[in-house]
Amino acid sequence: MDLTIEGKLFRDGVFEAACLGVEHGKIVAIKKILKSDHHLNVGNSLVLPAGIDMHVHFRDPGFTKKEDFSTGSLAAAFGGICCVCDMPNTDPQTNTMQALLEKVQLASTKSHVDFGLYAGVTDENLGKLRELAASSVGYKIYLGSSTHSSQLSSQNLGVALRETGRTKKITLIHAEDEHCLMAHQDAEHSLIDHVRCRPAECEETAARHVLNEAAHLSSLVHLCHVSSCETLEMMKGRPRNLTVGVTPHHLFFDVHKLPSSKAFYKVNPPIRSSFDRDALWTGVTSGIVDVCESDHAPHTLEEKLGEFNDTPSGLPGVETMYPLLLAAVKKERLGFARLLELVCERPARLLNLPKGRLEVGRDADLIVVDFKQPEPIKAEQLHSKCGWTPFEGFPALIPSCVVIRGEPVVENHEMLVKPGFGKNVGATTT
Ligand SMILES: [Zn+2]
Repeated sequence: MDLTIEGKLFRDGVFEAACLGVEHGKIVAIKKILKSDHHLNVGNSLVLPAGIDMHVHFRDPGFTKKEDFSTGSLAAAFGGICCVCDMPNTDPQTNTMQALLEKVQLASTKSHVDFGLYAGVTDENLGKLRELAASSVGYKIYLGSSTHSSQLSSQNLGVALRETGRTKKITLIHAEDEHCLMAHQDAEHSLIDHVRCRPAECEETAARHVLNEAAHLSSLVHLCHVSSCETLEMMKGRPRNLTVGVTPHHLFFDVHKLPSSKAFYKVNPPIRSSFDRDALWTGVTSGIVDVCESDHAPHTLEEKLGEFNDTPSGLPGVETMYPLLLAAVKKERLGFARLLELVCERPARLLNLPKGRLEVGRDADLIVVDFKQPEPIKAEQLHSKCGWTPFEGFPALIPSCVVIRGEPVVENHEMLVKPGFGKNVGATTT
């Protein structure tokens, strides 16, 4: 065996002292005792599957002042994420085969973690969607305008979902209805204004439309970053092929407790009230929510310190998602089984990846965590190029070691692999 790891493994709902054997990047054995030349004993630390972040914006190509694939994937690795899926709103947008292949090339040479790329769906490329499947991990649709994105007209949603559905790949949707957003458009000077200009009804309208269309399909459709209680309520009766994601920022913030003039927390859909936040937590613990996704969308400090109205929406989060949720488990806000479903198992299943569980035959992607005292998040210790975090001071449990496909990638706060280590998981093998 190439590597054996001994520690407390979470399997079938409980922790047990065991060893995990790795060969050619895969888990080949899990037993009480295993030995190899490269044996790593982590003592009482927990060994958990590494996370998968279905929703990141690494800004590369086109906006590399904010982030690039190297820095974004570095942040991911330190946060215990073994695989990221990158959104199409770069420049050029990945709405064409050429742009997609160029980004595959770029990410293959820069990424520290495994990656998949989404193909963007617009009114212009509806006839070309199926061919984009070969180089993408799935599709992304914006029903409402957001930062740097090009959207799909709502009347084309049904056609688009039927087309993407034929490819067996998942389609992710940013659900805010464009007509509703236009009707509420106004000058914004604060986070409260931002909520008023992007009210929950815009999300509900778009989500209802998605729900109705998905009901006629068997293919996977995923509603990204649900932010309101009403949308979540509506999702209780959804068909099985429709899944729901939430972000850490919608789970941890209440707009009425934030400094309202600060555009650092300006994000689409907006951070809403404690009523919505608490409903999202109920969805997380009860199982209505399928996935936690960071929607890592960095902007420079300079951009975020500009005039509120002109400031772009989005905030970073790929490095802090899993550590924040681990600290929430420590506080008993949710259990381990639920956490692993949200961050590892469901994303792996939805993206059809051999990852997300400590199980023989799967990729040896894991993290080691000392489940003791959480530590406060500090921007200066994070790795995103943007250099700031909305979660400054929040308690987190940061993994001490991260292994991807059997290769130690992070150990003792050090990056051990070079850019280009990450593999494209989205290419269809025939
Ligand atoms: Zn996003």
